[in-house]
Amino acid sequence: MAAPDVVSGPVRVVASGQVTTFEGHPLTLRFASLTIKFRFYDDPAQDGPLARLDAVTDPGEVLVHCVNFDTAEGRGTRTPLEIPGELPRWLHFRLFRFGQSPDRTLHYTLYGSIGGERTVRSTGEGETMASEDDERDLTEAREAPPAATRRPTVPALEERLFELNRVLDHGFVRVIDYMGDDAAIVQAARVSYGKGTRSSSSDRGLVRYLVRHRHTTPLEMCEIKLHVKLPIFVARQWIRHRTANVNEISGRYSILDREFYLPEPEHVTLQSSTNRQGRGDALSADQAARVLDVLRQDALRTFENYENLLNDDGQGQPRDPGLPQVARELARTNLTLGTYTQWYWKIDLHNLMSFVGLRADAHAQYEIRVYAEVIADLVKAWVPFAWEAFVDYKQQAHTFSREEMDVLRQIVQGGDPDALLPATSLSSRERGAFRRALRLGPPKQTSDGA
Ligand SMILES: Cc1cc2nc3c(=O)[nH]c(=O)nc-3n(C[C@H](O)[C@H](O)[C@H](O)COP(=O)(O)OP(=O)(O)OC[C@H]3O[C@@H](n4cnc5c(N)ncnc54)[C@H](O)[C@@H]3O)c2cc1C
Repeated sequence: MAAPDVVSGPVRVVASGQVTTFEGHPLTLRFASLTIKFRFYDDPAQDGPLARLDAVTDPGEVLVHCVNFDTAEGRGTRTPLEIPGELPRWLHFRLFRFGQSPDRTLHYTLYGSIGGERTVRSTGEGETMASEDDERDLTEAREAPPAATRRPTVPALEERLFELNRVLDHGFVRVIDYMGDDAAIVQAARVSYGKGTRSSSSDRGLVRYLVRHRHTTPLEMCEIKLHVKLPIFVARQWIRHRTANVNEISGRYSILDREFYLPEPEHVTLQSSTNRQGRGDALSADQAARVLDVLRQDALRTFENYENLLNDDGQGQPRDPGLPQVARELARTNLTLGTYTQWYWKIDLHNLMSFVGLRADAHAQYEIRVYAEVIADLVKAWVPFAWEAFVDYKQQAHTFSREEMDVLRQIVQGGDPDALLPATSLSSRERGAFRRALRLGPPKQTSDGA
């Protein structure tokens, strides 16, 4: 099939790739290689198609790899895009970055070359995506036709495999793999009976029984593997959950992305006056802006120094041949705790539920809680019976101490909590938690205001 004679008008970028560096105005985008997906489209405001593609039959696909090219807005690409074989309707360009803008928005101008002429152009902006060397493999895995397997799979989680669930300003969680489902829990629990799954209702009942009675080993038959990108200070809390398998990106081997966490202004708060581990009231807009500016400036300065010490042009060569290339393991040591890291994290369902229970809790730090909430949503899709049991018997359940049970019994029999609680040895914090758990409201004021 021959290339068309005429191709004109804009193209719509359907999915964009990843910027490696992102410098100043006019914008300079530097790529190691690029994958951009775009298509010709019809503008409903116009008569007929803006782009004309002759002699294209079925939507075809071609991968075009452009290695090591620079492009600056207004100058166009230096590397002509060569389309081998037949002209496709879809073009895929894949980009591997070696650094990234602190700004997630990617502004781009793309030029397509067909038949040696620059004939199509697209300008726009979109969100940058997570990207690293294995991005290509993940994209291919995501787009691959489903493999036939005899293993149990969960359609609701299959749908979400490899999906990028964004968290905070640059983080994400995505499912790489999983093993088992609700039926696998039941099957393991029934080993002693020699029978696996029965009916949906009896499976649900058994899963609830297991969770309620803390018979947890059947839950360990299910495992999930996540790819997580998170600020280092969040990673330090996360890693305390020891019953998981972790492999973190190596700052000795890799150059870390120029990405650091900056909270949304509403999350810039005072230190809590009641909880030493918590946040208090929000700052005013001006105060928050000043705090954010300090955080940004410090992070930028340390990154700048990091990159100066590395003296690496992204291809392993010195940016400044007159300066040394300091070891990566040393150059990174001044980076801030807000710097993003990444890891693969594999954990069984039992320990994952403990993680979600602690980290999705209102008392957990906001920045880890938002990750736990995303994971909770994935668990719900993966093992709905186990999730429901977890919510009922753990997450939204409450444990009372012996003394609290005594008070509770008396309240049920008509006792006055305002009289009963002060007579116990419970601390004021425990009393407060007890009241909140039972939604008793604040104590009534006594006549002397005590
Ligand atoms: C609100 C909050 C505040 C926290 N503050 C701090 C803090 O200030 N400083 C700090 O250092 N940590 C802090 N932590 C971390 C906390 O102490 C736990 O390390 C973390 O929550 C992991 O819990 P875990 O040990 O149950 O999980 P995992 O390590 O996943 O362990 C799961 C379970 O396995 C068993 N287990 C694992 N390892 C061992 C072991 N070596 N010996 C015996 N049993 C084991 C235990 O039953 C444990 O509950 C905080 C956690 C929370 C939620």
